[in-house]
Amino acid sequence: MDTLNHTHDPAALSWVPGAQGHQDFPLQNLPVAVFRRQGEEEAFRGGMAIGDQIVDLAALSSARLLTGEAQHACELAARPRLNALMAAGQPAWRALRHGVFDLLSSHARETTQASVRACLVPQQQATYGLPSRIGDYTDFYTSIHHARNVGRVIRPDDPLTPNFVWLPIAYHGRASSVVISGTPFKRPNGQAFPPGARAPVFTPSTRLDYELEMGFYIGPGNAQGNPVPLAQAEKQIFGMCLLNDWSARDHQFWEMAPLGPFLGKNFCTSVSPWVVMMEALAPFRAPVADRLAPEPQPLPYLEHPVHRAAGGVDVQLTVSIDTEATRASGAKPSQVSRTSFRHQYWTVAQMVTQHTVGGCNLQSGDLIGTGTISGPTPGEEGAIVELSRGGTAPITLSATGEQRSFLHDGDTVILRGWCERQGAARIGFGTCEGRVLPASGPTA
Ligand code: MN
Repeated sequence: MDTLNHTHDPAALSWVPGAQGHQDFPLQNLPVAVFRRQGEEEAFRGGMAIGDQIVDLAALSSARLLTGEAQHACELAARPRLNALMAAGQPAWRALRHGVFDLLSSHARETTQASVRACLVPQQQATYGLPSRIGDYTDFYTSIHHARNVGRVIRPDDPLTPNFVWLPIAYHGRASSVVISGTPFKRPNGQAFPPGARAPVFTPSTRLDYELEMGFYIGPGNAQGNPVPLAQAEKQIFGMCLLNDWSARDHQFWEMAPLGPFLGKNFCTSVSPWVVMMEALAPFRAPVADRLAPEPQPLPYLEHPVHRAAGGVDVQLTVSIDTEATRASGAKPSQVSRTSFRHQYWTVAQMVTQHTVGGCNLQSGDLIGTGTISGPTPGEEGAIVELSRGGTAPITLSATGEQRSFLHDGDTVILRGWCERQGAARIGFGTCEGRVLPASGPTA
């Protein structure tokens, strides 16, 4: 696990205007994305956020202001996808983050500042790409509060399946339909079995939902047959992002037994452009959430003292909904939930270990979703199916007074994430946004 060092010092200052006190991207964060200028036929390349600017890592690599391992990592980050940087491992990620930190620090020489200034691109001018070529995407189900809330909708007598407290549950998702934040998608068509009907119908989803999740990208990866022990698991995690696992609940609940989610999930998954490296999250690590009797302690392969003390991450998360009426009125999107990732029952390290314990090989650039993040109290639900109690209790949007049981066409869902703690600089993940477009017409 990463330890605290000078890059976490809340007193560290940058010469870049607006970086100090930036709500997401002060000097202490330096997350990575893939970007290019809007409207330009440029190649995508890696960039690091500082304030409202991006350090163009291709330009920085050509400027040769970094040396050694940091320069090598910067060259890998100049490519259109970051798989090679992810494969290079923790020492390379740390060298790059520390090297760029020094260049952006107010202690950097005037001549250095001038050279780096020439590598800055305003975030307003940027369009983003997927950070990696995602070979495989797996989505977990690791919030006990979400599992209980959804379980009550599907199985009121027995909401939590017995395996939940013993292992991090997941399904293998679809990498091809992962999109970068800001990409709209069509409401999916599919089979549903409405309550009281005598046969299934083919219909645009009438129970379209979002899922508030975080995601993480795999670093070096492991060879097939070589599981990753829990104590080594975080070396496999390049960094974390925001993730929305859009879900068609009517399609999902009809098709899901006995093999798990399929079309109810595979039409679209959105990710934030910015990936926050694990090192930047070091000040915000938290103990693993307590197992309260009768919940069992994890089996030994999912347990380690260091992990137990700091395997969690305290990331504040919100969900907001922007509707056509909200936009027409000029009002701000309505916030519908707020929670923290620290409530998660299973940690990112346990997800890596569980994924590989049978011999499965993870590869650089693979995307892992944490599962919907819901907290213990009302208002902390990470999906609208939970907020609306399975659609029976519509929520009211604060901006317009509109009601929602599920998402309407034109709705945009906005996820936000940030970390704050006394004695540390606040850092953030930016946003993950996506808009629902009308379904395609009936097919012949
Ligand atoms: Mn999910």
